[in-house]
Amino acid sequence: MQFKQDYFEQLEGFYSQVYPLPISNPHWLGWSEDAAQLIGLQQPNDELLMQLSANHAAPGASYYAQVYSGHQFGGYTPRLGDGRSIILGEAIGPNGAWDVALKGGGPTPYSRQGDGRAVMRSAVREFLVSEALAALNVPTSRALAVIGSDLPVWRESQETAAITVRLAKSHIRFGHFEYFFHSEKGDAGKLTQLVDFTIKQHYPHLSTDAAGYKQWFYEVVKSTAIMIAHWQSVGFAHGVMNTDNMSILGDTFDFGPFSFLDTFKEDFICNHSDHEGRYAFGQQPGVGLWNLKRLAQVLTPIIESDDLIAALNTYQDELVKQYLLLMRAKLGLPQLNISANKLSEAEQAELNKQDLHLVGQLTVLLESNQLDYSNSLRDFGQLDPNSSHSVLRDSMVDLAGFDTWYQAYQDRMGKVDDVNMWQGERNGVNPKYILRNYLAQEAIIDIEENGDNSKLLQLQQVLSRPYDEQPEMEDLAKRPPDWGQGLIMSCSS
Ligand code: AMP
Ligand code: MG
Ligand code: MG
Repeated sequence: MQFKQDYFEQLEGFYSQVYPLPISNPHWLGWSEDAAQLIGLQQPNDELLMQLSANHAAPGASYYAQVYSGHQFGGYTPRLGDGRSIILGEAIGPNGAWDVALKGGGPTPYSRQGDGRAVMRSAVREFLVSEALAALNVPTSRALAVIGSDLPVWRESQETAAITVRLAKSHIRFGHFEYFFHSEKGDAGKLTQLVDFTIKQHYPHLSTDAAGYKQWFYEVVKSTAIMIAHWQSVGFAHGVMNTDNMSILGDTFDFGPFSFLDTFKEDFICNHSDHEGRYAFGQQPGVGLWNLKRLAQVLTPIIESDDLIAALNTYQDELVKQYLLLMRAKLGLPQLNISANKLSEAEQAELNKQDLHLVGQLTVLLESNQLDYSNSLRDFGQLDPNSSHSVLRDSMVDLAGFDTWYQAYQDRMGKVDDVNMWQGERNGVNPKYILRNYLAQEAIIDIEENGDNSKLLQLQQVLSRPYDEQPEMEDLAKRPPDWGQGLIMSCSS
């Protein structure tokens, strides 16, 4: 790994230098070739294992934990920071630099009561989901590897520690800006320094002046909206959308009790600690906006509040626009190609409304008929939209409800000329394989009980090609068995 140290060198006072502590008897549990390519690595090797398990120093690494605060479940915590993630620096890759962080690398000045460690089950889940989301084209942080050990850690019972090697274009969170706003009281020096750094590193097309700041916030609103539209389209619930877990770049970040939907359920809650459903699946778009408002608030020293509000007001349209783009592709509905069809704005708005309704009605049907979200969408790849019979109908109980929906769908669609091609396109956007909680759980149990990571590796391989038919792997595309339905994960990790 070849590092540069821009954050470390340019943002003194925004982190604490801290060395990771080794985990004993380290071994690779997982390695992502795709992530490795991002930073120009080829194969894993023994020396790299020693470096990434903190047994050897990595040449060129700086080792630091960033300071930030954040709103957790709606309440403000004035200081959080990286309690168990230690950043080595920005590794230079063929298409840009990526922060390399050892998540679970040991205690830091921000660990509070925590031990700075991650348990194997949570490290494996983060590894799997980072790479699975990337394969689904969802903006996300990445995971280079997950490393197991025999170091004991205590949660509800004794478990073993592991490290996820996280790659992120940036680790700067909404919470960073909140921290410097609240700790500075009037003098916006550090807040400005942080915004300037963020713009120079990640928005090089923008200037670091009033006009640039204003435009930058629009782009933050937009990338957040796009990220959440992706989540809703693939049925992903993050579970802990605290502002300290919101990346400023709009990448999915800091995984805990996340879950993909099995059966579609609008108010599905995946986080055991989320008693009120604050972060339920259907709440995510609204929470994204709430979080952006917290960010806007702390940017008032450098951006006019009218401008902040104007940018916030674009959020919903951006989200709907992206969501419709993704869902039209999934259902095979024609995209609005404005120049070709010469649609007026009013006509576009009407079609958007109609299509959003059509998508919404489909999810209502999936929910009331207790159908699997991803598998039902995958069925569109076998549907003949010109035929009055639909494969989707076979799994419905509410046949009349479905027939009404399907009629509206066909009316909107018109005749499809090349059904084979249309079906192929559906299979290219509706995954056959998603990271269902029970699959992750089976892989974890096999490591815990038998020290065997082959299920993990198999799952990782399958999920790296989520749209492909993989006939040997059909079992991994099934709905969960009874024990694995709607698993709710604990926050302890
Ligand atoms: P999270 O809910 O994972 O986003 O974590 C919230 C805060 O708690 C962050 O500041 C984490 O770094 C910190 N934290 C979580 N788990 C631990 C742990 N085992 N040791 C130290 N800090 C932790
Ligand atoms: Mg966090
Ligand atoms: Mg965390």
